Amino acid sequence: MKRFFAVIGLGRFGYSVAETLINKGCEVLAIDRDEEKIQAISDIATFAVQCDATDERALKAVSAQNVDVAVVSIGENIEASILIVQTLKEMGIESIVAKAVAPIQGKILKNLGVNEVIYPERDTAIRLAHRLISPNVLEYLELAPGYSIEEVSVSDKLSGLSIGESKIRQQHNLNIIGIKKQVTRMVKGRMMVGESFNFTPSPDEIIEKGDVLVLIGREEDFDKFSDAEDDKE
Ligand code: ATP
Repeated sequence: MKRFFAVIGLGRFGYSVAETLINKGCEVLAIDRDEEKIQAISDIATFAVQCDATDERALKAVSAQNVDVAVVSIGENIEASILIVQTLKEMGIESIVAKAVAPIQGKILKNLGVNEVIYPERDTAIRLAHRLISPNVLEYLELAPGYSIEEVSVSDKLSGLSIGESKIRQQHNLNIIGIKKQVTRMVKGRMMVGESFNFTPSPDEIIEKGDVLVLIGREEDFDKFSDAEDDKE
Protein backbone atom coordinates (compact mmCIF):
# COMPACT_ATOMS: atom_id res chain seq x y z
CA MET A 1 0.00 0.00 0.00
CA LYS A 2 1.32 3.43 -0.94
CA ARG A 3 1.63 5.67 2.08
CA PHE A 4 1.08 9.40 2.10
CA PHE A 5 3.52 11.58 4.04
CA ALA A 6 3.81 15.28 4.74
CA VAL A 7 7.33 16.62 5.25
CA ILE A 8 7.25 20.09 6.77
CA GLY A 9 10.51 22.04 6.72
CA LEU A 10 12.88 21.29 3.88
CA GLY A 11 16.28 21.98 5.41
CA ARG A 12 18.99 19.39 4.74
CA PHE A 13 17.31 16.84 7.02
CA GLY A 14 13.75 17.36 5.82
CA TYR A 15 14.83 17.33 2.17
CA SER A 16 16.68 14.01 2.61
CA VAL A 17 13.68 12.44 4.37
CA ALA A 18 11.34 13.62 1.59
CA GLU A 19 13.72 12.51 -1.19
CA THR A 20 14.15 9.03 0.32
CA LEU A 21 10.40 8.56 0.79
CA ILE A 22 9.81 9.63 -2.82
CA ASN A 23 12.52 7.27 -4.09
CA LYS A 24 10.81 4.47 -2.15
CA GLY A 25 7.59 5.15 -4.06
CA CYS A 26 5.67 7.03 -1.35
CA GLU A 27 3.49 10.06 -1.98
CA VAL A 28 4.94 13.15 -0.36
CA LEU A 29 3.40 16.51 0.38
CA ALA A 30 6.44 18.79 0.84
CA ILE A 31 5.86 22.06 2.69
CA ASP A 32 8.13 25.00 3.39
CA ARG A 33 7.58 28.71 3.70
CA ASP A 34 10.72 29.38 1.64
CA GLU A 35 9.96 29.56 -2.10
CA GLU A 36 13.47 28.38 -3.06
CA LYS A 37 13.12 25.21 -0.98
CA ILE A 38 9.83 24.47 -2.73
CA GLN A 39 11.35 25.09 -6.16
CA ALA A 40 14.16 22.66 -5.33
CA ILE A 41 11.80 19.77 -4.54
CA SER A 42 8.88 20.52 -6.87
CA ASP A 43 10.14 18.22 -9.65
CA ILE A 44 10.17 15.12 -7.47
CA ALA A 45 7.51 15.65 -4.77
CA THR A 46 3.90 14.55 -5.32
CA PHE A 47 2.83 17.99 -4.06
CA ALA A 48 5.13 20.88 -3.14
CA VAL A 49 3.51 23.78 -1.35
CA GLN A 50 4.89 27.06 -0.14
CA CYS A 51 3.04 28.13 3.02
CA ASP A 52 3.44 28.90 6.68
CA ALA A 53 2.72 25.54 8.30
CA THR A 54 1.46 27.18 11.50
CA ASP A 55 -1.55 28.31 9.46
CA GLU A 56 -4.23 25.62 9.80
CA ARG A 57 -6.30 26.97 6.93
CA ALA A 58 -3.32 26.80 4.57
CA LEU A 59 -2.62 23.21 5.61
CA LYS A 60 -6.26 22.19 5.19
CA ALA A 61 -6.33 23.79 1.74
CA VAL A 62 -3.68 21.26 0.66
CA SER A 63 -5.41 18.33 2.42
CA ALA A 64 -2.62 17.86 4.93
CA GLN A 65 -5.14 16.22 7.26
CA ASN A 66 -5.19 13.19 4.91
CA VAL A 67 -1.56 12.19 5.38
CA ASP A 68 -0.67 8.96 7.19
CA VAL A 69 2.41 10.45 8.84
CA ALA A 70 3.64 14.04 9.20
CA VAL A 71 7.37 14.68 9.62
CA VAL A 72 8.11 18.07 11.18
CA SER A 73 11.71 18.85 10.35
CA ILE A 74 12.27 22.26 11.87
CA GLY A 75 15.10 22.44 14.37
CA GLU A 76 16.39 25.95 14.86
CA ASN A 77 13.02 27.67 14.90
CA ILE A 78 11.70 26.00 18.07
CA GLU A 79 8.60 28.16 18.30
CA ALA A 80 7.59 27.25 14.74
CA SER A 81 8.08 23.52 15.34
CA ILE A 82 5.86 23.68 18.46
CA LEU A 83 3.14 25.69 16.73
CA ILE A 84 3.16 23.38 13.72
CA VAL A 85 2.86 20.25 15.85
CA GLN A 86 0.00 21.86 17.76
CA THR A 87 -1.74 22.67 14.49
CA LEU A 88 -1.25 19.14 13.14
CA LYS A 89 -2.66 17.67 16.36
CA GLU A 90 -5.70 19.95 16.15
CA MET A 91 -6.22 18.74 12.59
CA GLY A 92 -6.38 15.17 13.89
CA ILE A 93 -3.14 13.83 12.37
CA GLU A 94 -2.36 10.80 14.48
CA SER A 95 1.19 9.98 13.52
CA ILE A 96 3.76 12.75 13.88
CA VAL A 97 7.56 12.50 13.88
CA ALA A 98 9.47 15.64 14.78
CA LYS A 99 13.09 16.71 14.71
CA ALA A 100 14.51 18.48 17.75
CA VAL A 101 17.83 20.21 18.36
CA ALA A 102 17.55 20.57 22.13
CA PRO A 103 16.17 18.27 24.88
CA ILE A 104 13.71 20.92 26.08
CA GLN A 105 12.28 21.18 22.55
CA GLY A 106 11.98 17.39 22.40
CA LYS A 107 10.25 17.31 25.78
CA ILE A 108 7.69 19.90 24.75
CA LEU A 109 7.05 18.13 21.46
CA LYS A 110 6.53 14.82 23.30
CA ASN A 111 4.09 16.51 25.69
CA LEU A 112 2.17 17.80 22.70
CA GLY A 113 1.69 14.22 21.56
CA VAL A 114 4.46 13.70 18.99
CA ASN A 115 4.91 9.94 18.53
CA GLU A 116 8.66 10.08 17.92
CA VAL A 117 11.19 12.83 18.52
CA ILE A 118 14.52 12.50 16.77
CA TYR A 119 17.76 14.34 17.45
CA PRO A 120 19.77 13.86 14.24
CA GLU A 121 22.80 15.89 15.27
CA ARG A 122 23.05 14.40 18.76
CA ASP A 123 22.59 10.85 17.43
CA THR A 124 25.22 11.31 14.71
CA ALA A 125 27.63 12.75 17.30
CA ILE A 126 27.06 9.80 19.66
CA ARG A 127 27.61 7.31 16.83
CA LEU A 128 30.81 9.08 15.79
CA ALA A 129 32.15 9.14 19.36
CA HIS A 130 31.51 5.39 19.73
CA ARG A 131 33.39 4.70 16.52
CA LEU A 132 36.28 6.94 17.60
CA ILE A 133 36.61 5.20 20.98
CA SER A 134 36.46 1.70 19.48
CA PRO A 135 37.83 1.74 15.93
CA ASN A 136 36.51 -1.78 15.30
CA VAL A 137 32.95 -0.50 15.86
CA LEU A 138 31.72 0.47 12.40
CA GLU A 139 28.13 1.34 13.27
CA TYR A 140 26.30 2.03 16.49
CA LEU A 141 22.57 2.22 17.10
CA GLU A 142 21.11 2.81 20.55
CA LEU A 143 17.99 0.68 21.09
CA ALA A 144 17.14 1.78 24.62
CA PRO A 145 19.26 3.44 27.30
CA GLY A 146 22.20 1.09 27.88
CA TYR A 147 21.39 -1.28 24.99
CA SER A 148 22.60 -1.10 21.42
CA ILE A 149 23.22 -2.84 18.13
CA GLU A 150 26.79 -2.51 16.89
CA GLU A 151 28.60 -3.57 13.75
CA VAL A 152 32.08 -4.79 14.65
CA SER A 153 34.90 -5.74 12.32
CA VAL A 154 36.38 -9.19 12.89
CA SER A 155 39.75 -9.31 14.67
CA ASP A 156 42.60 -11.67 13.74
CA LYS A 157 41.83 -13.69 16.87
CA LEU A 158 38.25 -14.45 15.83
CA SER A 159 39.13 -15.14 12.22
CA GLY A 160 38.82 -18.82 11.31
CA LEU A 161 36.54 -19.70 14.22
CA SER A 162 32.91 -20.70 13.81
CA ILE A 163 30.28 -18.54 15.52
CA GLY A 164 29.85 -21.30 18.12
CA GLU A 165 33.60 -21.55 18.75
CA SER A 166 33.93 -17.78 19.14
CA LYS A 167 31.86 -18.02 22.36
CA ILE A 168 30.86 -14.38 22.02
CA ARG A 169 27.51 -15.05 23.63
CA GLN A 170 28.84 -17.13 26.55
CA GLN A 171 31.90 -14.97 27.29
CA HIS A 172 30.60 -11.49 26.46
CA ASN A 173 26.82 -11.74 26.74
CA LEU A 174 26.41 -10.40 23.20
CA ASN A 175 24.17 -11.97 20.56
CA ILE A 176 25.28 -12.22 16.95
CA ILE A 177 22.25 -11.25 14.89
CA GLY A 178 23.96 -11.04 11.52
CA ILE A 179 27.19 -11.43 9.63
CA LYS A 180 28.27 -9.41 6.62
CA LYS A 181 30.79 -10.84 4.19
CA GLN A 182 32.53 -9.42 1.19
CA VAL A 183 31.71 -11.39 -1.95
CA THR A 184 33.29 -11.14 -5.37
CA ARG A 185 31.45 -12.15 -8.50
CA MET A 186 31.89 -11.80 -12.23
CA VAL A 187 29.48 -9.37 -13.85
CA LYS A 188 29.79 -9.06 -17.64
CA GLY A 189 33.37 -10.32 -17.50
CA ARG A 190 34.37 -7.91 -14.73
CA MET A 191 35.17 -8.79 -11.15
CA MET A 192 32.77 -6.93 -8.84
CA VAL A 193 33.07 -6.73 -5.06
CA GLY A 194 29.79 -6.72 -3.15
CA GLU A 195 28.44 -7.58 0.27
CA SER A 196 26.31 -10.46 1.46
CA PHE A 197 24.29 -10.22 4.67
CA ASN A 198 23.26 -13.33 6.54
CA PHE A 199 20.78 -12.39 9.26
CA THR A 200 20.18 -15.96 10.39
CA PRO A 201 23.74 -17.18 10.89
CA SER A 202 24.15 -20.75 12.16
CA PRO A 203 26.63 -21.69 14.93
CA ASP A 204 28.71 -23.47 12.25
CA GLU A 205 29.20 -20.34 10.15
CA ILE A 206 32.91 -19.52 9.90
CA ILE A 207 33.99 -15.98 10.76
CA GLU A 208 36.68 -14.63 8.44
CA LYS A 209 38.89 -11.56 8.45
CA GLY A 210 37.08 -8.76 6.66
CA ASP A 211 33.69 -9.92 7.92
CA VAL A 212 31.50 -7.63 9.98
CA LEU A 213 29.52 -9.00 12.92
CA VAL A 214 26.23 -7.40 13.84
CA LEU A 215 25.84 -7.74 17.60
CA ILE A 216 23.11 -6.82 20.05
CA GLY A 217 23.60 -6.35 23.77
CA ARG A 218 24.34 -4.10 26.72
CA GLU A 219 26.78 -1.26 26.20
CA GLU A 220 28.90 -2.26 29.19
CA ASP A 221 29.30 -5.71 27.64
CA PHE A 222 30.27 -4.11 24.33
CA ASP A 223 32.93 -2.07 26.18
CA LYS A 224 34.33 -5.21 27.83
CA PHE A 225 34.28 -7.06 24.50
CA SER A 226 36.11 -4.18 22.85
CA ASP A 227 38.76 -4.08 25.61
CA ALA A 228 39.24 -7.86 25.34
CA GLU A 229 39.66 -7.59 21.56
CA ASP A 230 42.22 -4.76 21.99
CA ASP A 231 44.19 -6.91 24.46
CA LYS A 232 44.35 -9.73 21.95
CA GLU A 233 45.92 -7.60 19.24
P1 ATP B 1 18.76 21.45 8.63
O1 ATP B 1 19.81 21.41 9.70
O2 ATP B 1 18.04 20.17 8.46
O3 ATP B 1 19.28 22.02 7.32
P2 ATP B 1 17.94 23.81 9.87
O4 ATP B 1 17.98 23.51 11.33
O5 ATP B 1 19.10 24.54 9.29
O6 ATP B 1 17.66 22.48 9.09
P3 ATP B 1 15.46 24.89 10.41
O7 ATP B 1 15.51 26.17 11.12
O8 ATP B 1 15.26 23.65 11.19
O9 ATP B 1 16.72 24.71 9.53
O10 ATP B 1 14.34 25.04 9.28
C1 ATP B 1 14.12 24.03 8.36
C2 ATP B 1 13.17 24.55 7.28
O11 ATP B 1 11.91 24.83 7.86
C3 ATP B 1 13.63 25.82 6.57
O12 ATP B 1 13.70 25.54 5.19
C4 ATP B 1 12.53 26.82 6.88
O13 ATP B 1 12.23 27.67 5.75
C5 ATP B 1 11.33 25.95 7.19
N1 ATP B 1 10.36 26.58 8.09
C6 ATP B 1 10.61 27.21 9.26
N2 ATP B 1 9.47 27.65 9.82
C7 ATP B 1 8.46 27.29 8.98
C8 ATP B 1 7.03 27.46 8.99
N3 ATP B 1 6.42 28.11 9.97
N4 ATP B 1 6.33 26.94 7.98
C9 ATP B 1 6.93 26.29 6.96
N5 ATP B 1 8.26 26.09 6.88
C10 ATP B 1 9.02 26.59 7.87
